[in-house]
Amino acid sequence: MKQKKWEEHLKRILPESEEVECKNCGLKFTDDYNLICLGALDLCLLCANRNLDKPTIERAYNVKQ
Ligand SMILES: [Zn+2]
Repeated sequence: MKQKKWEEHLKRILPESEEVECKNCGLKFTDDYNLICLGALDLCLLCANRNLDKPTIERAYNVKQ
């Protein structure tokens, strides 16, 4: 439930194209999972997993929900 609300919130604040650029790798993403990750961390899923440890990622998600 919480996750769903968060996704809806992100869809409202994200650009209409729903395309978000990762500040680390510069790739653009349009899929929900990467958008959520980019919204919380400014990193795509791949960069987040490479650059951040799991507790940091979980904290970012929890803080913003
Ligand atoms: Zn990236």
